Amino acid sequence: MSQMPGCVVFANTTDEVAKLLQLANEKRIAVVTRGSGTGLSGGSLPVGGCMVLCTVKMQKILEVDRANLTMTVEPGVTTLQVADAAALANLFYPPDPGSMKISTIGGNVAENSGGLRGLKYGVTRNYVMGLEVVLPTGEVMWTGNKCVKDVAGYSMRDLFIGSEGTLGVITKILLRLIPKPQVKRTMVATFDRMDRAAETVSAIIAAQIIPCTLEFLDRTTIHCVEDYAKIGLPLDCEALLLIESDGHHAVVADEAAQMERICRENGALEVRVAKDDAEATRLATARRSAFSALARVAPTTILEDATVPRSELARMIRYVENVAKKYQLKIGTFGHMGDGNLHPTFLTDERNKEEMHRVEEAFKEIFDEAIRLGGTITGEHGVGLAKKHFLPKFAGDVQMRVMRQLKETLDPKGILNPGKMFE
Ligand SMILES: Cc1cc2nc3c(=O)[nH]c(=O)nc-3n(C[C@H](O)[C@H](O)[C@H](O)COP(=O)(O)OP(=O)(O)OC[C@H]3O[C@@H](n4cnc5c(N)ncnc54)[C@H](O)[C@@H]3O)c2cc1C
Repeated sequence: MSQMPGCVVFANTTDEVAKLLQLANEKRIAVVTRGSGTGLSGGSLPVGGCMVLCTVKMQKILEVDRANLTMTVEPGVTTLQVADAAALANLFYPPDPGSMKISTIGGNVAENSGGLRGLKYGVTRNYVMGLEVVLPTGEVMWTGNKCVKDVAGYSMRDLFIGSEGTLGVITKILLRLIPKPQVKRTMVATFDRMDRAAETVSAIIAAQIIPCTLEFLDRTTIHCVEDYAKIGLPLDCEALLLIESDGHHAVVADEAAQMERICRENGALEVRVAKDDAEATRLATARRSAFSALARVAPTTILEDATVPRSELARMIRYVENVAKKYQLKIGTFGHMGDGNLHPTFLTDERNKEEMHRVEEAFKEIFDEAIRLGGTITGEHGVGLAKKHFLPKFAGDVQMRVMRQLKETLDPKGILNPGKMFE
């Protein structure tokens, strides 16, 4: 579905956003807030005749507060710029979505984005201490502050994190930073069966090691990545794990040795430990380029993010493989194995209506199974347009009613991102 907006506005200041929203609210003009447009659930797609309110020009880093370990930024700053500015102050901003070179921090907060380091460090929500939000009325609200503890009233900040542009426009973000890990060790392990990779992940966690990265690629994805990035990945395997440990150098050395041993004990075909930073970056590129690599091989790529409790991961991966066979579809799967967050990626062609029908049926089965296993329909990409039909089944009647009531209270005229998240 493609629809043209009525206009596109690039805001520079909170005041401009406030005036635009006030006007839109008076005239009942739909407003679709947009960062870099890298979202994967259709949240920033224009609705017909709307105002696209783009925040990419609000790109100032307003403060790095070393005493309180915080950074205050405007929403158009990219995730990488946030991470670089933190590093410059010898601090660390951990959330690292695969899109971090271009995604905006405003988009990250609106989607509560995760990343490759989620297992150890959590997701965007864990690093947001405060927000400035413009409500549809044009009123400007601050929620949160630099206090480590603050329980005054409802946590409004948390309501806006992950609200996908449906409740307000985020115009400033107060981020929590942490001390920088001293060192990082990267390794890649390959397996002849996906089960063995999944069992290795369980064994690592059972050994009470929480690596900062525990990612996997399946055979289809490994071949596409190698074709694309020429990293020198082993191709005679069914699954590849990318594992990174970071922190104090003594701890990292110990964890890395233990994980290498666990990989071998669980039948790894090969364990390759990066000798230096350049090799570590190359190996990490294998995972970071997975989506782009898969996107090259078919006219249409549909990336999903069904997520299950870690204990159900092996079962869910097998289920996706069976669904691919049942519907005769090509699916490459990769993802955040340590988080139970899978990215089954359909390699298809939207012009082929019959195949698209099979894709839709396959989706339904995958989401139903994720819910049945105690998981969720989206671990990090949000509901947007793509998942709105699945949300009621996942959330249930009472939660849906409360969510609708919140939306109606904050945006009674329904101008913000209409048609997204709710059917
Ligand atoms: C190659 C690739 C890799 C990716 N990897 C990951 C990953 O590892 N983890 C992950 O979680 N996601 C990932 N994504 C998805 C995407 O990058 C994230 O959802 C990202 O946070 C979107 O940021 P954006 O600036 O592009 O936002 P957009 O796509 O422009 O917008 C996303 C949503 O946020 C809303 N929004 C944007 N800015 C604001 C604002 N200032 N105020 C209120 N609402 C706003 C929009 O209305 C929309 O609903 C990936 C995407 C790609 C293309």
